[in-house]
Amino acid sequence: MYRVHGDKIIRRRTEYIRQNDIQKYTKILKEDFENMCGYCGKDFNIIKCPYQKDHLIPEYIAKRAGRLDLLTDYNNLVYSCRVCNRNKWHNWPFDNVNQTHNDHVGFVDPAAEEYDKHLERDDSGRIVPKTSVGEYIVNDINIFYLLSKYSLVK
Ligand SMILES: [Zn+2]
Repeated sequence: MYRVHGDKIIRRRTEYIRQNDIQKYTKILKEDFENMCGYCGKDFNIIKCPYQKDHLIPEYIAKRAGRLDLLTDYNNLVYSCRVCNRNKWHNWPFDNVNQTHNDHVGFVDPAAEEYDKHLERDDSGRIVPKTSVGEYIVNDINIFYLLSKYSLVK
């Protein structure tokens, strides 16, 4: 089995300047996410498609919880492809904004080490779940991006 992100490690920097406009995070998101979609591992260096910024905790959930800070929180932004961003969209299985999953359903920050615990790629490069949270993510985002065999990394 292989990692979703191949040989790239996505980790968030801890020191950055807080911005009120999420467009200003583009540069550090691109760098920290290794210019790939956090969810499906699509490498924008290879596949020329537009990147987007997904709110891990959706905007309407954050607003409903009175957590407007999450709208412009770097840690709540995921560098993603249009397909993953659109498929995830408003989906959030609970109202809680203090956790991203409850061990059964929900999401995992692709920049967290934990992402590899829930998802992996099979020998054909297809993303497959390892846990029930992984299953939720696969079904909800409908991740289909196949890494070509040569770029699969154990
Ligand atoms: Zn994607």
